[in-house]
Amino acid sequence: SGITDNLEKIFETENLTPDLLVPVLEAEGSQLSELFEFADQVRRQYCGDTVHIRAILEFSNHCRCDCAYCGLFAGNKNLTRFRMTPEEIVGAAQLAAKAGYRTLVLQSGEDLWYSKERMGEIIREIKAETGLVLTLSVGERPFDDYAYWKSCGADRFLIKHETADRALYDWYHPHSDYQQRFSCQKELSRLGYELGSGFMVGLPGQTVETLAKDILHLKELRVTMAGIGPYICHPGTRLRGSRDGSAELTLKAVALSRIVLKDAYLPSTTALNIKGGLRDALNCGANVIMQKVTPYQYRELYDIYPGRETKDMDFKKQLDDLKCALAQMGRTGV
Ligand code: SAM
Repeated sequence: SGITDNLEKIFETENLTPDLLVPVLEAEGSQLSELFEFADQVRRQYCGDTVHIRAILEFSNHCRCDCAYCGLFAGNKNLTRFRMTPEEIVGAAQLAAKAGYRTLVLQSGEDLWYSKERMGEIIREIKAETGLVLTLSVGERPFDDYAYWKSCGADRFLIKHETADRALYDWYHPHSDYQQRFSCQKELSRLGYELGSGFMVGLPGQTVETLAKDILHLKELRVTMAGIGPYICHPGTRLRGSRDGSAELTLKAVALSRIVLKDAYLPSTTALNIKGGLRDALNCGANVIMQKVTPYQYRELYDIYPGRETKDMDFKKQLDDLKCALAQMGRTGV
């Protein structure tokens, strides 16, 4: 049977509950096309045909955390660690701006070498010299650091809640807990950052009920952006041997998030693109793409999960090629 009536109800209801969302996450066959088309229409109505292209600079793979799923976990002795100097980071940002990118995401493991002041200086310089819209994605820090970086000119902060199942969250993050992550998100919003959250699909132990709660968590937080990507197993972690999350279930979560959130920035995440989901994601609700501007000598070392690295390409060509590919899909990359 069709699910469009259910989708319309979800689209219109303010106080959603997980039981309304679960059947949609279990959609199959022709119900899938109903879901994807509905989400595509909501995207067109609320966001238009623009695809927002974000440059992402992965500037350090040092990390103090022990996330069960991530290849950068502190105890990983098989990883060569790198850390870009402030000069290298500002230089890469300038190259990205020159190539035509307008937004830059600065991402790293939780690396305290970048103190509040040192990070603040990097933010100031990038803002002064490039005018790029700046997103930070550096994990949990004292609220004072967040406030200072905002005053230095940072615009947005991406810190995913990863999973809305508290017990699972605490099990996967022995160094922290769900409450702490959530407090960081609340504080970042309060400080005036545009907040990005998100979650992984297919984490071992996760259910569709959890995914429904994940989507409702995004709504409750009033996120500006949500990164939803499949879990990809890294053989060097304690989750080695587990199954990857499915691209199809990820697409369902993206589509449903579009219907619930309406106008949020929803990327086709790097993890989903590795699984070949880019074109599909853009046709079922996504309106953002991230492109790496990490210097090539560091890319393989930013080994969160396995995935093939692209070959060395000039940033401008990389950006122009993407804009061309988007134009062929009837979308405009900016
Ligand atoms: N340290 C920062 C933080 O915690 O927000 C940012 C860097 S962290 C490596 C970026 C994201 O990578 C996480 O939010 C997580 O969702 C994702 N990630 C890590 N390991 C993954 C895996 N095995 N599969 C899919 N995504 C993963």
